[in-house]
Amino acid sequence: MRIAFLLSLFSSVVLAQSPANWQNAEREKLLTGVGSVPKLGSPGPVAIWGNFAFPVLAAAEGGKSEMALAAAAGFGKGRVLIFGHNSYIDGGNAGSGGVGTLLVNAVKWVSGKEKPRIGVHGTNLVAFLDSRGFRSKKVAGALDKKSLNDFDVVIANVQGITSDEEGQAVQDFIKGGGGFIAGMTGWAFEQTSGGQTLSAAHGLNKALLPAGVAFTDSSGFGNAQLREFASRTDLSRYMNAYEAITAIMKQRQGGPALTAEDINQGANAIQIALAAQPPGRTTLQTAVMNALGDGGTGVPTPAAPLTQEKHSSERIRLGMETRVLKLAAGDGIKAHAAAEAFPGKSPADAPRITKEVSIAPSITGWASTGLWLNAGEPLTVKLPADAAGKGFAVRIGCHTDTLYHLESWSRAPDISRSVGLETETTLTGSAFGGLVYIEVPGRAKEMKPFTISLSGAVEAPLFVLGKDDDATWNTILKKHQGPWAEFACDKVILTCPTENARKVTNPTMLMEFWKKVVEAQDEISNQATERQRPERIVADVQISAGYMHSGYPIMIPTSASDEMITFGRLKFPGWGFYHELGHNHQRGDFTFEGTGEVTNNVLGMYVYHAVLGKDPLIGHPAITPDALKDHINTIKKAGNKFAVWKSEPFVALTTYIQLVEGFGWDAWRKYLHSFSDASYGPTPTNDDDKRDQFLVRYSKITGKNLAGFFEWWGIPVSSTARAEVSKLEPWMPKGLH
Ligand SMILES: [Zn+2]
Repeated sequence: MRIAFLLSLFSSVVLAQSPANWQNAEREKLLTGVGSVPKLGSPGPVAIWGNFAFPVLAAAEGGKSEMALAAAAGFGKGRVLIFGHNSYIDGGNAGSGGVGTLLVNAVKWVSGKEKPRIGVHGTNLVAFLDSRGFRSKKVAGALDKKSLNDFDVVIANVQGITSDEEGQAVQDFIKGGGGFIAGMTGWAFEQTSGGQTLSAAHGLNKALLPAGVAFTDSSGFGNAQLREFASRTDLSRYMNAYEAITAIMKQRQGGPALTAEDINQGANAIQIALAAQPPGRTTLQTAVMNALGDGGTGVPTPAAPLTQEKHSSERIRLGMETRVLKLAAGDGIKAHAAAEAFPGKSPADAPRITKEVSIAPSITGWASTGLWLNAGEPLTVKLPADAAGKGFAVRIGCHTDTLYHLESWSRAPDISRSVGLETETTLTGSAFGGLVYIEVPGRAKEMKPFTISLSGAVEAPLFVLGKDDDATWNTILKKHQGPWAEFACDKVILTCPTENARKVTNPTMLMEFWKKVVEAQDEISNQATERQRPERIVADVQISAGYMHSGYPIMIPTSASDEMITFGRLKFPGWGFYHELGHNHQRGDFTFEGTGEVTNNVLGMYVYHAVLGKDPLIGHPAITPDALKDHINTIKKAGNKFAVWKSEPFVALTTYIQLVEGFGWDAWRKYLHSFSDASYGPTPTNDDDKRDQFLVRYSKITGKNLAGFFEWWGIPVSSTARAEVSKLEPWMPKGLH
């Protein structure tokens, strides 16, 4: 069947080629004389899965799998070629590297003619095409049957071609024998369309789906080292997801084993292609599931993780299942076998309830509902008509870290999902279950508060400071049966397993403490008025990187849950929490290269001083008095002082500790606040500037010339900066000379 199709489409080629090589033969026609094509703008990858679809240009970043910048396909009697950025069909770029030659080859390839009639839509290629001896004309207005049929080839910037009618007209044109060359910047569509989803809302992209190519909303090719896409005829056939699915199916049925490289490439292509499918289009998902067969999926746990080395096929299966399940539509989503191990489930007899939750659009981010949805159970969300389609979404599961890139998985690699609330009623579910949130978009800030109704979920322990008291927590709230619990205040929300949360008897004191912690960092860093939402800290059995990491949410290991919710000991909750919160408060103005793991610790140390009323030096074994002496000696002995300073965060932290010990926290506060005080001049624009301003601002604030101090530590500053503070009295802390 496959071969017959190929024969009809690429007859002259395929007769002489094995099926494996037909892609190379077609690619060669497109790339003849091209050499290389520069990276223009920030392109994204295109998805490829059609029987007659193949990548044209591709790159692999940092040892990862190849992604396609451009793809081509046969479709009906015609052909199509797409670029993952609109710059590639811009007349101004036709002279860049091989772009012009590729366009000329593409015009001939999609039309099968040497001198096709060309229509140009939404781009300025007419002069370029003239210069290459082609007749071309601008197509004005919407693309329809009449305007398209004047041409053999249409080249279009399709960023704004979102109507289904135009999409259908283009599809008919191609299937009837037309050639179509298109470019758009898929990741920008959400912004250019006011928050719509590319896979669901872009008419032209939907019309190309049967050809098995699509624009995606992924950003990619972000590596600054990547400057160009080399013209390569020989690309992996597994960049086509369908080829990969077929090979995986054959391997499962006893066919040839795929190499690890092929598996990674194929899994990547499948994941990109799956991400391009609109909700409800299940052909590709079904093919993936069929290829995987009925065999069991490994269930990863911390005690028995799935490793790349020992469980590669289970991992492909599970990785694909999570991709497919993430896209599954509203009803009939079944529980995944791995869901019970993590994130868990409520007791079977826990009541499924309907709950009204009030939403304050002025507070962005995830609004907690105090509800838990079991895997595979339906959730119905109703919101007022005027809030539908405004960017609100329901999120099921707070464990948003994905683990695809890790060698070992202690849980399924992607278990949280978010579903847009596009209509008054949304029926949804999750294969993994999780705590239920309403996601409030930044652009809805001006809306008045409203009420959302949620049905089908189970109550989970949720304590809200200022609304609930300890007695209610101890008698009612902590007994709720969702397996994950939350403690909330207006500055931070903590999420941990219910079994840990139930040990807490005094949540008021706990959250008053945590509120002060975040407020302390907000205040000293001058971010109190900037705050749009509470921070979040979520415990997880495995996270994407590090022991803990910053972000929204801040992620911590479940083993640190008790520490997070126990404040009564000397220095707990401890250093790691303040460190990550400090990261969330870091700003470029006061953080230059080498201080990414330093200035956040200064903010963390401030919590010991301001909230715990303790000496910050108790916080970490690397800043005891003896350790500080060692750090000072390290710099004394160093050849290249700044190289050492930049690479050892606790050595660099010692500099800041001396400033705080010398001038108090108030000087540090004034330094951080100085960046919004115009009398200090413009804020820094590069690293040299940041170090200079660190010296100048701190010297002015303290009334001391700190140039010698900076020099002692090896922090480079300009002579201009030194001159600016030269009139002040020099300062050195005791013990440095
Ligand atoms: Zn860090």
